[in-house]
Parts: sequence; structure tokens; C-alpha cells
Amino acid sequence: ATQPYDDQNIFAKILRGEIPNRTVYEDEWALAFHDINPQAPEHVLVIPKGAYVCWDDFSAKASEAEIAGFVRAVGHVARTMGLVEPGYRLLANTGFDAHQEVPHLHVHIFGGKPLGPMLV
Ligand code: 5GP
Repeated sequence: ATQPYDDQNIFAKILRGEIPNRTVYEDEWALAFHDINPQAPEHVLVIPKGAYVCWDDFSAKASEAEIAGFVRAVGHVARTMGLVEPGYRLLANTGFDAHQEVPHLHVHIFGGKPLGPMLV
């Protein structure tokens, strides 16, 4: 079970322009911005514009257009960052066991160095 969407979460505030961000890409469906505490030389977060707590919420409730728009935005950002040839990693922490900290769906894009094997 997923908690109700909290419109005071930090990414909701970023979407409303109440908190600044270093935007990489924005379109009708998604916003991409640099993570404030990067874990790799390239570390960008991509979030859907809709109010979805997590991957479970989004995959169950979002429209086909929202899902397509978001997935395409993630791919577009990675391409425009030049990460396709060297490679990159996507991560979406979901819920308690995964230590999801911000309750608005976000996909992490990591790259810019050989990342090593997944830890989990
Ligand atoms: P999670 O653990 O929820 O998957 O990751 C949350 C991510 O959001 C972390 O990597 C953290 O550094 C990032 N983050 C938290 N607050 C802010 C913020 O205010 N601005 C930006 N750009 N990133 C944030």
C-alpha cells in the first residue's frame, strides 16, 4: 500500500518553482534536474509532472500518455547527456525497504564513470 500523495514534498515544491533546481530538461510530462548530492559524476533525477508517490503508484494509475511521456523523457535526457555510448544506470527506489526518501516518483540516472556491479 502506498501513502497518499503529499503535495508538500520537496519535488512537488520544485515542480511548482518554490525551490530552485538545476534543470537539465523539461517537457509536458517530466522534469529532469541535477541531484543535490550526486553519487556519480553524472547524477540526474527525472520526475513525472503528475502527482505520483512512487513507481507502484505511477505504473498503476498514470495514463498511457503520462507513462510514455515520462519513459521517453528519461531516455531523451540520457541521450542528450551523452551517456548512451559509455552507458548509464537507472534506479527508482520504491518504498521503505529501498529507502525512498522523497515521496514523488523519481528515476535516478547515474553515469560518467564505470559504475561497477549493482550492489543489490
Ligand atoms: P531517494 O532516496 O528518494 O531515491 O533519493 C532522493 C534523492 O533526492 C537523493 O539522491 C537526494 O540527494 C535528492 N534530493 C533531496 N532533496 C533534494 C533537493 O532539494 N534538490 C535536489 N536537486 N535533489 C534533492
